[in-house]
Amino acid sequence: MIEEDVLLARFTTLGTGGPARWFSKPGNLDQLAAALEWAAERNVHVSVVGLGSNLLVADEGVDALVLRLAGELATAVAEGDRLLAGGGAPLAVCLHRVREASLGGFEFTCAIPGTVGGGVKMNAGAYGSDWSQILERALLVDADGAHWRTASELELSYRHSNLRPGQVVATVELRLVARPEAEIKSRVAELIAQRKSTQPTNKRTFGSVFKNPDHELGAGRILEECGLKQHRVGGAMISPMHANFIENAGDATSADALALMAEARRRAYERFGVELEHEVQLLGDLELPPL
Ligand SMILES: Cc1cc2nc3c(=O)[nH]c(=O)nc-3n(C[C@H](O)[C@H](O)[C@H](O)COP(=O)(O)OP(=O)(O)OC[C@H]3O[C@@H](n4cnc5c(N)ncnc54)[C@H](O)[C@@H]3O)c2cc1C
Repeated sequence: MIEEDVLLARFTTLGTGGPARWFSKPGNLDQLAAALEWAAERNVHVSVVGLGSNLLVADEGVDALVLRLAGELATAVAEGDRLLAGGGAPLAVCLHRVREASLGGFEFTCAIPGTVGGGVKMNAGAYGSDWSQILERALLVDADGAHWRTASELELSYRHSNLRPGQVVATVELRLVARPEAEIKSRVAELIAQRKSTQPTNKRTFGSVFKNPDHELGAGRILEECGLKQHRVGGAMISPMHANFIENAGDATSADALALMAEARRRAYERFGVELEHEVQLLGDLELPPL
């Protein structure tokens, strides 16, 4: 089913963003293929949202068919040393499944509030691991059909994959290792405690704003040195806890967040000569001004 003018703010962790011109929640591969065919026949762009945890959506909305995978495409099941999961499966659900099956290697995702598809697209990572280390293969679907791709074919590197706009990660196979459930539990508890002490996990944010540059300081430290902690534009504020996070401090718009990003980027360039590249994905008519 294709819906019209569905507000995307409720599908982003920052809680901002306007409506998708068209919106659909395919629950299996046939429904996904039908939605993609619908878009191709009308020459309509296709975008996907996962949990919107690394996404900034234009306040004016998005002139595209926005997909959010559901049903069979959002489930996960452990089989042997594999996890078979839909692109829309939340990482928290996957972690639960692998822990029950005593499979390790997935613990690094415990503080990443996304889905499988978002994890592959971003090659999400933490604590020295990322998706390139666990992904056996992903089924990519677009208007031309479905194709399996391995991690190396996807060219996964630091917060990067070669997924093209309109390509959907429909399902994946992850390769994991046997590990006692108790060991997984204690590692996860340790990582979550570590995370809570350094990042604003209880605020509305979209995770890291910028990628870490090729510099001795990470993006957060650079922005902190620029005196940007608690700097505000409208309702968007640089986190007092970690300067590479933008918080929705009440009534932020995506335009506020984008203006704050532009200001942060300008100051980092003036002070350190560093051109920060945004990690957060921009959806709709959003662009940072050149430096
Ligand atoms: C508190 C917090 C902590 C975070 N910590 C980390 C961290 O430690 N490490 C890290 O890497 N990230 C982190 N993030 C960022 C974010 O959680 C990850 O990038 C995550 O992988 C995004 O997944 P998502 O499903 O929310 O994707 P979305 O934010 O919805 O989308 C991100 C991109 O993925 C694409 N996408 C989503 N689903 C699909 C699909 N099925 N097929 C094709 N493309 C798709 C979207 O089109 C978009 O381009 C954090 C975010 C928050 C809010």
